[in-house]
Amino acid sequence: MKKEFVKEAVYDKSKVYTEKDFLNAYGISQNDLARIIPPSEQIGKEKATLIMLVRNRELNDALKSMRAMEDRFNRKFRYPWTFLNDEPFTEDFINYTSGMASGKTSYGLINKDQWSIPHHIDQEKVKANMEKMVSKNVIYAGSMSYRHMCRYNSGFFYRHPLLADYKWYWRVEPGVEYFCDVDYDVFEYMRAHDKVYGFVMSMYEYLVTIETLWDSTKEFIRTHPQYLASDNSLDFFVDNHPPTQSGEKEITGNYNLCHFWSNFEIASLDFWRSQAYQDYFSYLDSLGGFFYERWGDAPIHSLAVGLFLPKTKIHHFGDIGYRHPPYSRCPQDVGSHQSGRCFCSRKDHFDDDGYSCLPRWWNVAGQSVGAGIKQMD
Ligand code: GDP
Ligand code: MN
Repeated sequence: MKKEFVKEAVYDKSKVYTEKDFLNAYGISQNDLARIIPPSEQIGKEKATLIMLVRNRELNDALKSMRAMEDRFNRKFRYPWTFLNDEPFTEDFINYTSGMASGKTSYGLINKDQWSIPHHIDQEKVKANMEKMVSKNVIYAGSMSYRHMCRYNSGFFYRHPLLADYKWYWRVEPGVEYFCDVDYDVFEYMRAHDKVYGFVMSMYEYLVTIETLWDSTKEFIRTHPQYLASDNSLDFFVDNHPPTQSGEKEITGNYNLCHFWSNFEIASLDFWRSQAYQDYFSYLDSLGGFFYERWGDAPIHSLAVGLFLPKTKIHHFGDIGYRHPPYSRCPQDVGSHQSGRCFCSRKDHFDDDGYSCLPRWWNVAGQSVGAGIKQMD
């Protein structure tokens, strides 16, 4: 039927063809139609969303990330996208991103008091500390918006009303790349395997940005020992620390600065909504380190999941190829490449870089040690 039509049909340029004309001509039924034309309904079964905190001027990079995410994963599942911004999104931003999405899209404005300096903060001290950090050439040292962003990602994004009905999210940033087809539902995987937090890359934080974070975290655990999970990941954060015994009430040792790189996260929203995390964030926020220093959401998220959860609830997505400049990681097994599932340079591989903490994670979690590195050609 299809072939005959192609051979015989005369395309009349003066006519405006509707979708229905083509379907009739090709003999496509309503049932087929449901499979061919996106009904824009969600296919994946989880209460999950792709989240992007983004500025209007990052539209191009946002579309680049979306295109890769849709092609590699989301067109198969049509999970909704949630965009958040401290300023109203422009019409252009909304039109282009909703056009790129295979699922529904929502656009949220951030509450001003979640993106401003709280009253208890001494602004003179902030200014003086910022200047000191600038003179040390620390990245984003002089940026106040960066500090708001880190604080928002640490303590507020999961409370946004647009996220109220969701249990899971995948954090997406503008300008990232995904190198591999992801043919299974990552959110279903998280739920079915009882995981809470998923990451791809891990590295060291700049000490100057979090000078008092570790001591503050130790103090928090001293006053809230009930939140320290047995079988936590303390031995990932503190070199040569023996695995924590059940019933331990304090954390000891020096922080090695290892954290999960949070521009990629596949995680449970309920974890951030838990009393343990809310108490931890409130305590950290009361100390003012987001402003006096430049605490990042990555070490804060990492310390929380690493201390309040058993190790088994953290998952390394070794099968996902990803780039957030300046680093990339690429699955190392032959199959991921010979099947065409991944297209990335196997040499451009951060996992066992000197700046990567992943070898430590493999070591303490006993999880897919080497992630196929042995098969590297
Ligand atoms: P980096 O990855 O640490 O270099 O920081 P980014 O500049 O990528 O910022 C992290 C995330 O927050 C990205 O998704 C940005 O688009 C977003 N972001 C950073 N600053 C702002 C801001 O001032 N407003 C908004 N709406 N988003 C921001
Ligand atoms: Mn980024």
